[in-house]
Amino acid sequence: MKPTAHAFERNARQALHDATLQQALARARGGFVDKRRAAIEALPEFAALRAAGRAIKDHTLANLDHYLLRFEAQVQAKGGQVHWAETPEEACAAVLDICRQAGAKLVAKGKSMVGEEIAINDALEAAGFEVVETDLGEYIIQIAHEPPSHIIAPAVHKTRQQITELFEGLHHQPGLTRPLQTVPQIVDEARQVLRDKFLAADVGITGANFLIAETGSAVIVTNEGNGDLSATLPRVHIVLASIEKVVPTLEDASVLLRLLARSATGQEITSYTTFFTGPRRADDPDGPEEFHVVLIDNGRSAMLAGPYREMLRCIRCGACLNHCPVYGAVGGHAYGWVYPGPMGAVLTPLMVGLEEGRPLPNASTLCGRCEAVCPMAIPLPKLLREHRRQEFARHLTPPRARWALAAWAFFARRPQLYRRAARLAAGLLGKLARGRGRFRSLPFASAWTAARDLPAPQGETFMDQWRRRNKS
Ligand code: SF4
Repeated sequence: MKPTAHAFERNARQALHDATLQQALARARGGFVDKRRAAIEALPEFAALRAAGRAIKDHTLANLDHYLLRFEAQVQAKGGQVHWAETPEEACAAVLDICRQAGAKLVAKGKSMVGEEIAINDALEAAGFEVVETDLGEYIIQIAHEPPSHIIAPAVHKTRQQITELFEGLHHQPGLTRPLQTVPQIVDEARQVLRDKFLAADVGITGANFLIAETGSAVIVTNEGNGDLSATLPRVHIVLASIEKVVPTLEDASVLLRLLARSATGQEITSYTTFFTGPRRADDPDGPEEFHVVLIDNGRSAMLAGPYREMLRCIRCGACLNHCPVYGAVGGHAYGWVYPGPMGAVLTPLMVGLEEGRPLPNASTLCGRCEAVCPMAIPLPKLLREHRRQEFARHLTPPRARWALAAWAFFARRPQLYRRAARLAAGLLGKLARGRGRFRSLPFASAWTAARDLPAPQGETFMDQWRRRNKS
């Protein structure tokens, strides 16, 4: 996927004027938030669980090399193979090799954000393989030729009417029961179409929510069971996973699973939670003949060694997206790459470059809701500020903003002068407003006044009031 994060402003403006998108976002907005709140209120030990989850991740990240090697040894001991990939290109090449050696034609793919990150579908299709997404949301966006707009609900931006039109335009198999007026009817049709694909697929690709070092297992959670079918029916199972997905033990994974389900969908546990360990054994009734794990770095080792290390605690629950006022207003596509919302605003500049991704950390009010709801207590506002700091240090900030910041810094370092200037500016703006108490348009604040009024300062400045009250 070619990033368009540099065009966030244009993307966001289009999103705000897209009535269908706004309708879909309004419908989705409350659901996740309310369910998460109820699930957490029903679990008094949530704060303790959150602290435990954070400690597990911090410990693992501090010893990542050890746990990754342990994971690899366990996968091999169980008859599987691990492929190390530093870049998206290396990861795609490893998957293509496995598919070619398997003589594959059709690949059934479960949902995988790292798969989006390395653009595995494009690579497979360019090499002549047919790829079918098996998660309903992913399937919908695949046939709409769109990227996901949410990390756990990829088609949340689509209305039922749009999905009906997509299905009616594409599915012409005999035996389909129409019309498609309800969600169960849509789901049933997708099930009928995908069933044949599961049975015909030679290779199944899934992501992994966690990798377990002590057993060499890959864990995936779904609410549709499609991941299980993608992994067990084809002859070959490939797991795509980034290196920070590893955790030391089964017990550690169970702590994180409890946090993930509640934070993502407000469930106590996801409908299907499956642990895959190696290929089928002689007495197994089903399962793949080959089990491969492609371990992807793509900049994560650099993150581990730098100021963004805490971002590697992310378990991709999506809670920060669901609670973000910016995401809620513009949806995921405006962010212009694979990861949207606050977590995307941190990750995207790290993965596609700060030059491309610099608008994203600036498109935040730093209100802190994302950090408050993050089950891994990732300090997202602090990391967004770090991006802004880097942007300024690398002279990527536009000249007008640099001048404004330089002027502000000049005054901020001289408190006396700052107070006098603030008093003067407040008085002047108050007079300019001529008793209306607001500005409907101001040339130097047009981005604000184009959509709302700017309140005019009234009376004394905050510092003057503070001094007066403390004197009396
Ligand atoms: S940053 Fe936190 S809230 Fe956002 S997806 Fe990651 S774990 Fe969830």
